[in-house]
Amino acid sequence: MTRIDLHCHSTASDGTLTPAELVRAGAAAGLSVMAITDHDTTGGWDEAAAARPQGLTLVRGAELSCRWFGVEPSIPLHLLAYLFDPREPRLAADLARLRNDREQRAEKIVELLRADGVDISWPEVSGYAAGGSVGRPHIAQALIRAGLVRTTDEAFASRWLGARYFVPKADLDVFEAVRAVREAGGVTVFAHPNATVRGRIVPDKLIVDLAAAGLFGLEADHEDHTPEQRAHVRALAGELGLVVTGSSDFHGTHKTVRLGAFTTELSAYRKIVSAATGVPVLG
Ligand code: AMP
Ligand code: FE
Ligand code: FE
Ligand code: ZN
Repeated sequence: MTRIDLHCHSTASDGTLTPAELVRAGAAAGLSVMAITDHDTTGGWDEAAAARPQGLTLVRGAELSCRWFGVEPSIPLHLLAYLFDPREPRLAADLARLRNDREQRAEKIVELLRADGVDISWPEVSGYAAGGSVGRPHIAQALIRAGLVRTTDEAFASRWLGARYFVPKADLDVFEAVRAVREAGGVTVFAHPNATVRGRIVPDKLIVDLAAAGLFGLEADHEDHTPEQRAHVRALAGELGLVVTGSSDFHGTHKTVRLGAFTTELSAYRKIVSAATGVPVLG
């Protein structure tokens, strides 16, 4: 059995396993293929590649913070990008800008919390991110340490990071992101496109337009999709000729999902690999 998990986070963003620990955990979980897809960074690629156990194939990727500006207010969304050339200047500059904005935004959130007397600090939060892409889970970690919430989930409630202390981040226009990843030889898959639990979702019509613009696949099997949403995404992909993926979106202890909880079929994986020209899979 080939077990393929194409969406996993490390300490290069908001996961809790280092890239080396992540690939070892992937092999231990019985995966044959795993992708490292940290938010807006390729910073974990080299460490994951160096630590890759025999028998585990590594797909290098990232999860890009994007936004659809076709409605008011615009809708944020996540685009998985696989096997792109990280040295391609335009995409590299986009990622650097996103990471820089994540820092400024996290600092703003910390300031808002501090103004309300919450005893956390930017050095603490930045220390949790440890040089990786900063995200709200790192602020959640500080709120847990301060005894204000017990879990990351609780920290995402509306009275904390979900709404009251929410600050939007800079995102890439999703059409520009699809184009930039393609120009860097990579392939894009729309992450958890119907996950209403995360907020507003885009209409199917946008996915039709993205497919025409070069989007390659849709992530159907994901813990944030209901069975009906999974079936809907799968059917839409079928109509549009897009590949279907399934993935854990593993984040270590920042989430409860386990590696390999959802997986991708071998035929879909092969199509992704065949379409990419940026960097090879390793293994
Ligand atoms: P950010 O990217 O900084 O906006 O933070 C969102 C990230 O937090 C996403 O990558 C999620 O995977 C992660 N996360 C962990 N727990 C939750 C939760 N309960 N709700 C939303 N996002 C969560
Ligand atoms: Fe995340
Ligand atoms: Fe995501
Ligand atoms: Zn993710």
